[in-house]
Amino acid sequence: MDKIPARCVVVITALMTAFTSIAEAHETTPSPSPAPSAFSAQTLADLKRLQQAALASDYAWRQTAYLSNNIGPRLSGSAQEKRAVEYVAAELKALGLEVKLEKVIVPHWVRGEETAALVQFHGQAPETTQKIVLTALGGSVATGPEGLTAEMVVAKDFEELQSLGREKVAGRIVLFTNAYDKAMAAQGRAGDAYRQAVAYRGDAPSAAARLGAVAALIRSVGSADYRLPHTGQTKYAEDAPKIPAGAVASEDADLIAHLAPQGPVRMRLVLTPQQLPDVESFNVVADLKGSTDPEQVVIVSGHLDSWDLGTGAIDDASGVAVAMEVGNLVKRLKLAPKRTIRVIAWANEENGLRGAKAYAEAHAAEMGNHFAAIEMDGGAGHPVGINMNGKPALQELLKPVAAVLQSSGAGALDFVDGAGADIGPLEKMGVPGFSPMSDGRTYFHYHHTAADTLDKIVPKELSENAAALAVLTYALANSEQPLPRLP
Ligand SMILES: [Zn+2]
Repeated sequence: MDKIPARCVVVITALMTAFTSIAEAHETTPSPSPAPSAFSAQTLADLKRLQQAALASDYAWRQTAYLSNNIGPRLSGSAQEKRAVEYVAAELKALGLEVKLEKVIVPHWVRGEETAALVQFHGQAPETTQKIVLTALGGSVATGPEGLTAEMVVAKDFEELQSLGREKVAGRIVLFTNAYDKAMAAQGRAGDAYRQAVAYRGDAPSAAARLGAVAALIRSVGSADYRLPHTGQTKYAEDAPKIPAGAVASEDADLIAHLAPQGPVRMRLVLTPQQLPDVESFNVVADLKGSTDPEQVVIVSGHLDSWDLGTGAIDDASGVAVAMEVGNLVKRLKLAPKRTIRVIAWANEENGLRGAKAYAEAHAAEMGNHFAAIEMDGGAGHPVGINMNGKPALQELLKPVAAVLQSSGAGALDFVDGAGADIGPLEKMGVPGFSPMSDGRTYFHYHHTAADTLDKIVPKELSENAAALAVLTYALANSEQPLPRLP
């Protein structure tokens, strides 16, 4: 989810100028006829039926429950991920969709033992250590089975680490204490707070290793405050040695930061993950064929893989289940969309995005026929509207859809730089992207932790997401007007 590239801003500005001139021209024209709606009266009536059916359905809930409780965590390369591919494909087939499995080669990283303790610190009682709760970051290399013991150095951010220099960092375990901005999240900008903090999850190991550190730890990303460490993918730069990397529960990061100014703090760290050879997996791609423009595609999607600490209920069984629900409802109401509705359960969002990349590559020649792409991957909290990654004209075009969604409290329309990680490559190729604008106030308490479990899903809110996406998907599949393309 990068910022809008500068050239986009230029294009948007140019467009806005064009709109202004058109608007000014209209002022001198007497009673201009209103622009025709992109949605017929029949489509609008069908949208309301879909919305009501979604709010009354427990299909998405049952699918979320099966994926999280019966199958369980679905990290790429795992037996559960393989089972989930088979399960979702069979369920979509049972709905009457045309299902294809599209091959994706995925990484296979497995978590090992992960323990840590402070073995030296000021005020230590004889013969004791302080347990530190942490988890390996995805992709981390191992410490070796015996672990490593080293003095710690604490830096609040990358700048502070640089100012410490090699002399104070070499041979040490670095802890970055940069914190997730809870105040920003409380203002409704949880995604932005996450993106800021996650820079450390990605770049901390190489930044520390360049100065000779033996391991890199970060303060857990997210707002969890029940001593729950948050995992997620890290990355290693080409120009730095690969050192073990972990996330320390925020409470324990605070504890270390408190002790460090009082005297030397040494940690014994054991992380034994393994990077196994890549394996074959699949994007599950299921079509409900369009009645008049079957070659044109509207994607509705979630990602099938999950982190391994919890059962991946909110991230992202709920997204997959809601996408499946869209197929279920359109079939059940015997609606015949003009364009093809394509339900996708993406492979390997969490630690590689290989499913998204493989799809974009395999379907590059058909991108002109990809009308729109929707992904739900921001939790299953109550949706207040729709996020759009597209041209300003979408706002006007989708007003009738927003009016329908308003009755379930989801009538807001807003622009974002990227609507979903898996649809990102499609957006880069011009396809407008959409996602539910969900209430994210609790999402980052649980996301990527052991507490991402089924109980965090509120059935009513899940069905509200299903209603929002069923309405949006069907509206886009039946729009009488084309959508403006990105950039
Ligand atoms: Zn996700």
